[in-house]
Amino acid sequence: MWLSVARQALIAVFLAGALLAMVFPGVASDDNKTQQINTPVATFAIAYGELSNAQFAPLESQFYVPKAQAVWLKANINETRLNEDVVLTVERPLLGQVAFYHRDSAGSLSPLDGEHVSTSLRHFSPHLIVHEPKRLQHVYIKITSPYRSQSQISLTSYANYHSQVDNRLFASGVFSGVLLLLSVYMFATGLLSKRASLLSIAGYILSLGGFYIIHQGLTDVFFSYQTSLAIMQYSSSLLAAALGCCLLFFYHFLVRRRLTGTINTMTQSMAYGYLLVAAVIVFSAGQLAFAVQAVLVLVALAVAMAVLLQQQQGNRKEVWFCGVVWMPILLLMGLFAVGQLTRTMLLSTSLTHLLVSSHLVLLLGFVVWHDSESRRNFIKYTRVDKDTELPNKFALLTALEELELKNKAHTLLLFKPLILPTIKLNFGLSFANQYINKLFKKVSQQINTYGNAAIANPVDTEIYRLEEDVFAIILDGKIEVSQVEQYVCILCSVFEEGVGFKDTKIVDSLEVGVANHPMHAKTTEKLVQRALQALSTKSQNGQRWHLFDVENSMSSERQLQLSSHLKGAIEQNQFSLFFQPQVNLTTGKVFGSEALLRWLHPDFGYIPPDEFIPIAESSGQIFEITEWVLEQALHYQAQITQVMPDHVISINISGRDLNRRELSVQLITLINELSLAPSQIMIEITESVTIGKEAELKGVLDDYRSIGVKVAIDDFGTGYSSLAYLSKLGFDELKIDKSFVMDIETSKSNQTICKATCDMAHNLGSKVVAEGVEDVNSYIRLQAYGCDYAQGYFISRPLPFNEYISWLTKVSDSDDIKSFLVR
Ligand code: C2E
Ligand code: CA
Ligand code: CA
Repeated sequence: MWLSVARQALIAVFLAGALLAMVFPGVASDDNKTQQINTPVATFAIAYGELSNAQFAPLESQFYVPKAQAVWLKANINETRLNEDVVLTVERPLLGQVAFYHRDSAGSLSPLDGEHVSTSLRHFSPHLIVHEPKRLQHVYIKITSPYRSQSQISLTSYANYHSQVDNRLFASGVFSGVLLLLSVYMFATGLLSKRASLLSIAGYILSLGGFYIIHQGLTDVFFSYQTSLAIMQYSSSLLAAALGCCLLFFYHFLVRRRLTGTINTMTQSMAYGYLLVAAVIVFSAGQLAFAVQAVLVLVALAVAMAVLLQQQQGNRKEVWFCGVVWMPILLLMGLFAVGQLTRTMLLSTSLTHLLVSSHLVLLLGFVVWHDSESRRNFIKYTRVDKDTELPNKFALLTALEELELKNKAHTLLLFKPLILPTIKLNFGLSFANQYINKLFKKVSQQINTYGNAAIANPVDTEIYRLEEDVFAIILDGKIEVSQVEQYVCILCSVFEEGVGFKDTKIVDSLEVGVANHPMHAKTTEKLVQRALQALSTKSQNGQRWHLFDVENSMSSERQLQLSSHLKGAIEQNQFSLFFQPQVNLTTGKVFGSEALLRWLHPDFGYIPPDEFIPIAESSGQIFEITEWVLEQALHYQAQITQVMPDHVISINISGRDLNRRELSVQLITLINELSLAPSQIMIEITESVTIGKEAELKGVLDDYRSIGVKVAIDDFGTGYSSLAYLSKLGFDELKIDKSFVMDIETSKSNQTICKATCDMAHNLGSKVVAEGVEDVNSYIRLQAYGCDYAQGYFISRPLPFNEYISWLTKVSDSDDIKSFLVR
């Protein structure tokens, strides 16, 4: 904040300073005119070359100074009729020297010093104070300059001279002061904001200021004549430094990340090259010839042009502005060069001031503009997705929060185009973005058309990008489920219709999740979470969209909890095995039992296997559990066979376990260890697992059968596999799912299914188990169908081991279980 205020203040100061500096010489010349009446008179003559053979010619006032050749002037002050002090002034030619002489009594030329020539301001304004004009007749002036220059000589009153010099000093002082201030300011801002571009601008302005000070001869104000003279040597060093900093600015400000390698490195190395030249000049105290300086300038210009041209592909406005910024300086250099070549003085002090200050004002303006531009972009892209130009997640949250604050009902609709990731993979990101842009235009159009018709106070519905592939629409106000349905319909139809893009027509389908405020969530955060939950709900029976469902979300929360608690369940002994007997329907005797896992959690209580087994499967914890069940079940089997030698134990194996061959190794090890009969061990796998991957599965099942254990197909009838297919896999037992058995007394179709299954299984040579036998009638009916074994609550609920053993001993006395049970 303070930085921008300071920046504006500084620009104001700078502008005011530059204006002052331009206006003041004008004021001085006005003064000049008013005092013209009193101007003392003198005659001047000029000669070029050596004084000894000089041919003096009369001179008005202005004259030309050739490059590196002395000019001699002769001033005859004697002709003035004034008695007061007068001042003879010579305008210093560019970086030139002016020296005053007179002929002493012996007739030889000696320099005028001391009382006549003040050493101060000798460079800024070479002058000779003549106290008694009558006494000093002829003054000789020697003028040299490294450049072709224009100059003028004049004689004026002491007072007049002083006001002129004061004015000029003030103007140049303000101008150079402002330059120095600006460079210090840029330097400080560059350091604070760690921006090399500002530091190089600071260096540029500093060199420019130094260049100006030396050229104006302002060093006189700060240093002695000798030092001032020495400093003048460094003027071309400052030129090189200014060019170097300028290129560095280009490099940091425009180039860096956006240009191709060559230009990038060229600009950088050129910049450092110029700075090196500047340093070399300082150390060798050499002055560069005008031609060399011109070459330096031209080369820097060429590089800058190359950068700008390259940038054409980037931000055009930026390039234009940057070009315009350097125009005044180009003009200045052009005028100077033309002046050199045509021997005319095209640059006045005011024009120089005007050009330099307008250049700096433009430069400053450009930096400020660029800064605010990037700030605007920054602010924009905190709210807009760069790829699609859609409002982003932040914008969505802000909009939702606003509605939440106003306590207005609203509905968040999230949708996920399913084909989008594939488009990205196959056609690339930019294609996908362009496609989204085109498609979403159509989407907003259609949605707004519907919204305008359906809602009393329609507002344009915006599409937000919440995540990479998830987009959002906010439906403002109270809205019926049927209206949401309408919106979904519109969305889906646009995607299903698709849009033609670059010769391809892409059709897509959507997943949609919806949540409402305040019905499903009171806060924005929760609302987004709930809509995402709804979005992630898996579609069943072709449902297009999901409204947030409390039960669903609670169950998913519970799933997460259970999954984390499952880890400790084995170590903390929370698992146990129950046994549910199976009865041989032909003999009426116990055939065996199915081992069923139980989890008793200290906090959650009893958790049914139907709930935790799928969690264990998806989190990979099932392997450990199966190993535990297998080991426990076989140890119990060893104990049970002591009571009932032909007892068959059935063990459930998850579909996930089938890929792990080490399980059959564990099985065989246990069988040997416990001296069990493998034929009394039944592995139950569910029917759904058997679908697909026939060859692989057959291999696995063959593994088990080669050990001698038996295989049962569990939950038969719930999957879609045919018996013919299953028979190829090979199995020993078929378990009809309890859903067909439990209501067999009332459902004719289930009766048919059970009867047919028994017949077909027998034809294939396998046994049939009916699971879920809950009453005596079902028991009798299944017996009549020829079903081999029965399992169910009618016989017994699953029992803990000890209770199962006592149940076994209780029923072992009776001839027929059925008559024992109905007693
Ligand atoms: P499943 O293999 O079909 O097990 C039979 C399920 O039916 C058992 O439920 C049993 O209690 C229940 N049941 C038996 N007779 C009746 C009846 O007459 N009426 C009714 N309504 N239900 C009856 P449970 O013990 O809750 O087990 C559910 C499922 O959990 C099992 O279905 C099985 O898929 C899985 N499971 C159980 N233990 C294990 C295990 O150790 N390992 C694996 N991988 N899965 C297991
Ligand atoms: Ca089972
Ligand atoms: Ca079953």
